[in-house]
Amino acid sequence: MTEIRLYNTLTRQKDVLTPADKNRVTMYVCGPTVYNRAHIGNARPAVVFDVLFRLLRHTYGETAVHYARNFTDIDDKIMAAAEVEGVPIDTITKRYEDFYSADMGALGVLRPTYEPRATEHVQQMVAMIEALIAKGAAYAADGHALFDITKDAAYGTLSRRPMDEMIAGARVEVAPYKKNPGDFVLWKPSAEDQPGWPSPWGRGRPGWHIECSAMIEAHLGTTIDIHGGGLDLQFPHHENECAQSRCAHDGAPLAKIWMHNGFLSMDKEKMSKSLGNVVTVGELLEQHHKGETLRLALLMAHYRQPLDWNERLIEQANKKLDRWYRLLDDLSEISSAGNSEDAGVSDQFQMALEDDLNTPEAIARLDNAVRELRELTQDWKQGSRLQRQILAIERDRFVNAGRLLGLLNTYPAFWLGKGIAVPTGKIVVKGQAPTVDSTEIAKQIAIRTAAKAAKNWAEADRIRDQLKAEGILLEDKPDGTTVWRRA
Ligand code: AMP
Ligand code: ZN
Repeated sequence: MTEIRLYNTLTRQKDVLTPADKNRVTMYVCGPTVYNRAHIGNARPAVVFDVLFRLLRHTYGETAVHYARNFTDIDDKIMAAAEVEGVPIDTITKRYEDFYSADMGALGVLRPTYEPRATEHVQQMVAMIEALIAKGAAYAADGHALFDITKDAAYGTLSRRPMDEMIAGARVEVAPYKKNPGDFVLWKPSAEDQPGWPSPWGRGRPGWHIECSAMIEAHLGTTIDIHGGGLDLQFPHHENECAQSRCAHDGAPLAKIWMHNGFLSMDKEKMSKSLGNVVTVGELLEQHHKGETLRLALLMAHYRQPLDWNERLIEQANKKLDRWYRLLDDLSEISSAGNSEDAGVSDQFQMALEDDLNTPEAIARLDNAVRELRELTQDWKQGSRLQRQILAIERDRFVNAGRLLGLLNTYPAFWLGKGIAVPTGKIVVKGQAPTVDSTEIAKQIAIRTAAKAAKNWAEADRIRDQLKAEGILLEDKPDGTTVWRRA
């Protein structure tokens, strides 16, 4: 095993990953605030850290990696959305959690080991805030609890901001209960008609930053190996997470390596709901883009670099996958000598990923492998047994490498549109009035195939159950899935 090097925002250099316990490698990534559909920019951290999750599992073993990604299910934006619809917040959060899981499943993202919800950890948050107050790093004022940034000498070390600038805080009106303008909220009061929990400071709700600190403590421990998220979270969110956990844990650091993905842009600006330049994963799937295509498009730039989302990028990714799947289809008659996973991946491919997740380099290695396999393939039918064996091993390594990126999960014949019996036109389901669009069924089957390949059984079952509810029965066969019409 070689070393995995990851760019650490804390040290501003690539550091060697040395897990405190190789049998329990810990990673946390800040998850979505669930009040709307995820845009493809939100999917970037999910996909990037999924590649890292896969690499870690490949390196340390599947059960050794403990990965937590939270759902922020209490937030003012969620409360506003619930008010607009006149429903309780959990109607909103449950709906968008399900959408998020389905959308990420379609992109081949594995379910993390833990998906904690903020609302299920309020007790831990209250306990952590109490500890911070007891240690003098936080104070209660006017129904709030606040973190006093002047009490943490290391405050600012992650984002490298000068203390005086941070004490001054953002140039907005400063709440009268704050000791320093830069102090941040740990707990805030809720009005009677707002969701709230009892606390020593009155009925209220937690601030956003304390959620992650408490959930990390609850599921992963005091100091974790890797903490990740988008670049926009570096300050203040991650700086504040660091400060809270450090002060609550007598100086122990929250994470050894901090990783931040760069922004996805569209029309030259960061994709963001507030700018309105968003396209959701759901919309892209509805436009019949395949989940794997979108995933490869996201991985074509290095995760720390900006990436512009446009039609050309999607087209490039799709063409590449067409080329890869065509090769696999041409080689489908060649069987592996034993378990295809035993062939592993090429050293060069693995080294690319171990070098701070260099996915563009890893993808270039796959393209090379395709060229080499094509040369080997030219006259394999006349070739010797040994030549066939070599071809099988190289093919298996290519597939294993693709899967380490979360790609090549579909049967080649299915990708190329030859291996699946999808009825054309509309299927009329007997006994049920509405007609069902077969392209929609094909899309659902594609999403389900990806989910199954990603061992996302819950998602695969959900899609099967959903189609069943619409009168479409699916039968799984070794060579793909056949649509059944209900009699
Ligand atoms: P949010 O639900 O807004 O908290 O965002 C969820 C995740 O998506 C966070 O890790 C953000 O940093 C990340 N994110 C948001 N917008 C973008 C973008 N345009 N490009 C890359 N990552 C983003
Ligand atoms: Zn967080």
